[in-house]
Amino acid sequence: MSREDYEIVIGLEVHAELSTKTKIFCSCSTEFGGEPNKHTCPVCMAMPGTLPVLNEKVVEYAVKAGLATNCTISKDSKNDRKNYFYPDLPKAYQISQYDKPLCENGYVEIETENGEKKEIRIERIHIEEDAGKLNHDDFGGGSLVDLNRAGVPLIETVSKPDMRSAEEAEQYLRKLKSIFEYIEVSDCKMQEGSLRADVNVSVRKKGETEFGTRTEMKNMNSFRSIVRAINYEADRQIDLIEDGGTVTQETLRWDDVSGKTFSMRDKEDAQDYRYFPDPDLVAIKLTDEYIDNIRKELPELPEIRKQRYLEKYKLAEKDAKLITSSKYLSDLFEKAIEVCNNPKAVNNWIISDISRILNETEMEPIEIPFDANQLGKLVILIDKGTISSSIGKKVLTELFENPRDPEEIIKEKGWIQISDEGAIKEVVMKILEANQKSVEDYKAGKDKALGFLVGQAMKETKGKANPQMLNKMFKEELNK
Ligand code: ADP
Ligand code: MG
Ligand code: ZN
Repeated sequence: MSREDYEIVIGLEVHAELSTKTKIFCSCSTEFGGEPNKHTCPVCMAMPGTLPVLNEKVVEYAVKAGLATNCTISKDSKNDRKNYFYPDLPKAYQISQYDKPLCENGYVEIETENGEKKEIRIERIHIEEDAGKLNHDDFGGGSLVDLNRAGVPLIETVSKPDMRSAEEAEQYLRKLKSIFEYIEVSDCKMQEGSLRADVNVSVRKKGETEFGTRTEMKNMNSFRSIVRAINYEADRQIDLIEDGGTVTQETLRWDDVSGKTFSMRDKEDAQDYRYFPDPDLVAIKLTDEYIDNIRKELPELPEIRKQRYLEKYKLAEKDAKLITSSKYLSDLFEKAIEVCNNPKAVNNWIISDISRILNETEMEPIEIPFDANQLGKLVILIDKGTISSSIGKKVLTELFENPRDPEEIIKEKGWIQISDEGAIKEVVMKILEANQKSVEDYKAGKDKALGFLVGQAMKETKGKANPQMLNKMFKEELNK
């Protein structure tokens, strides 16, 4: 049998750090980075005798996330201790939720490769605390513990094993990320670990009803690695089965450099964690009114925003989808329009050059270094004819490298468009003189020659000549 005879089955457990100001059980800052162990107190350092107090915002954010992903919100929920020993977990247990999560039975919709809509079911969303971080000491040889992250609130979203390809898994994670960004519960910065996924993969022969044994790759935080890892792992499992072996349920580590997975440890079963209700915390009881109030305040979600763009700005479906897939991009779009009042142009910049640069540099929209005002001003400079669109592209590159006022950039670089008739005429005459062959071609009816001449003039002026004026003046001279 070959790979085509197998089906891949994927389920994701996604951790998102909540963007509350303070930690889940104490009032320390959740800010990323900082001097090691600066954002700590006796509670998040697990000193004996300290007691946790649940941050109400955490519940609110989790309920928001549940409502935005079509979950049922539990009015009767609680916190449990998940016991395990690891040096980055000072209490030797993590406060999480076991059998009564805040949110259950939701779904998000994705589009499959053949354009069909598909629901990926969400089993649960629960709240829990993050662990600290181990920094491996290059000099001393040991490991140093940084507890700044210990107690940062997380929501864990557990999907059903509903995805059937790496692409579907990527789409699902992108959708989840986009929703969390829209409702502003997490900044979802993957490179900072604010959004990370445990990826569960199994394979089975097509037509089989039972799932195969899965393996799990922990803490993945890049779309590209997730796609590569799923495909590698599926191939590995298929080869193993084809060779007569069986897949062992285990936790794997994906290595991006070698493009392979490595065994980390056998998978724990739930009872290994010896879950029990945390006796230091009260039950979480929510009223219908509380839940309804959060529901009422949910902001516009990506799908609705996309519809608005189709109607209001008449964008192409594909463009509207791309822009609204990221709250950051679509906010950039809307704010830039307020500046330049030219939706079509802003749309084009975002879907072409900006997206291309983001892809090439593997940058997330939130990392775009320039702001909407600068993008809007770039559009204005082109609309007014101060610069050509080819210079505009150079300004954009500059905005990515060293963002500042586009007007300042073009002054500094001497990129202002040449729209002076005398200067344009001078270039036109020079190019005509040097390209007699093209002149003859044009006169013999080859219209293409005009494009060539304009191109030469643009080259001569390093893209600064006003192309409309060039066109017009070349025609005048050639038709004389
Ligand atoms: P845990 O990892 O804590 O044991 P679960 O058993 O609930 O938790 O499963 C975790 C994740 O694994 C879920 O996202 C689920 O969809 C996924 N999963 C479960 N079984 C399979 C399978 N056979 N193949 C792929 N993914 C699976
Ligand atoms: Mg798991
Ligand atoms: Zn603290």
